[in-house]
Amino acid sequence: MRLIIFFLIVYLFYCCVRRIIDALFYGGSCGRRPYSQKRQGGRAKQRIDELVKDPSCGVYIPKKDANTVRIDGKRYFFCSLECKEKFLKKRQSKLNAYK
Ligand SMILES: [Zn+2]
Repeated sequence: MRLIIFFLIVYLFYCCVRRIIDALFYGGSCGRRPYSQKRQGGRAKQRIDELVKDPSCGVYIPKKDANTVRIDGKRYFFCSLECKEKFLKKRQSKLNAYK
């Protein structure tokens, strides 16, 4: 019986934490408004655009402008073709070093 109460408290605490996190991320709006939130989220994403890091030079670039390459199912983003080639060469030499 005590265990159940304990879990209930933990669950309530978890709900509170989630609400705080939601409030932080969605600007403290009370209650869920799925429709408007979805629309706002979509707009915000388009406006801000997702930034990705170029592993070659360390610069952040918008995902849509990035040069991409897929290695072993993982996507890498680059600011330019030069960075992409540099990264691939580096990777190749690393792989050769292990052989
Ligand atoms: Zn770069």
